[in-house]
Amino acid sequence: MKVGLIGFPVAHSMSGVMQNAAFKAVGLDDWKYELWNTPHMDLGARMKTVRESDEIAGCNVTIPHKQNVQPYLDEISPHAQAIGAVNTVYKREGKLIGDNTDWLGFLADLGFYGVDLVRLDGGALILGAGGSARAVAYALIQSGMRVTIVNRSPERATQLVSDMRKLFPDHLDGDGIYYGRSVLYLAAHRSLIVNCTSAGMWPRDNENPWPEDAPMPSEGVLYDLIYKPRVTKLMEQAQANSLHVIGGIGMLAEQGAAAFEKWTGVNSAEVSMVMRESLG
Ligand code: NDP
Repeated sequence: MKVGLIGFPVAHSMSGVMQNAAFKAVGLDDWKYELWNTPHMDLGARMKTVRESDEIAGCNVTIPHKQNVQPYLDEISPHAQAIGAVNTVYKREGKLIGDNTDWLGFLADLGFYGVDLVRLDGGALILGAGGSARAVAYALIQSGMRVTIVNRSPERATQLVSDMRKLFPDHLDGDGIYYGRSVLYLAAHRSLIVNCTSAGMWPRDNENPWPEDAPMPSEGVLYDLIYKPRVTKLMEQAQANSLHVIGGIGMLAEQGAAAFEKWTGVNSAEVSMVMRESLG
């Protein structure tokens, strides 16, 4: 059986390493994860192959197809609909189902590090309003947290707040606030700060999404979704401020383990450690 990653480009992806390690660990020796580089013009043909081949169990979907893969699917899970993005496709009774496992991966990694969201009563501040911010906002709201979203482009933050508020009227503070000094006033009272921007991601490792003039709180949790580098400038700054700091590599493993479960039926808990270890 095969599973693959559909995106453009995909050569940099670490998904093959961790998924293949997991197949091996549970004795699925005839399963293989491949990287399927798929420019826009080839997406239809690629999804036709996924649908028609009995040797393909499903796929992961990444940039730039997380939204535009949706017309090629028979069903989209309520989670993926709420988040507005599909990152995993699997088959059930001949149908192609789109789902999203990023939100599960984020929650599973918080659990791995012993962060109990129920006990964090100060709400969460999300930096960013792109695809990952949508998954993180959904995860936190599902867990009962109040969420505030700030983004460099205010329109995108406002849109995200408005979309989430349609589903969860009481869990969002503000209307998507302009990124900058406003963070100073907001952060002081938040017990969880999540970086969902790409500022600080290789090769932009010198960037830090935290506004220069905004002091950071000195207690609580800072989660940075970035996994390359393993320690970002933002994480260094938060460590210096004594926050509990977590980077994004564990979320990467956990979202992969949740997808693995959809394709193989093997419980994600059985492979998440193998995946974490395979990522080094
Ligand atoms: P998107 O391209 O959808 O969104 C990028 C976000 O970053 C936007 O909100 C954008 O703001 C903001 N941004 C970019 N540059 C800056 C900057 N210099 N200062 C402030 N804000 C900035 O990306 P994703 O949401 O898909 O991914 C974001 C990051 O999360 C990536 O680094 C990705 O690798 C990582 N990620 C990690 C995962 C994991 O499993 N650990 C899973 C998914 C993503 P604007 O709207 O103004 O452009």
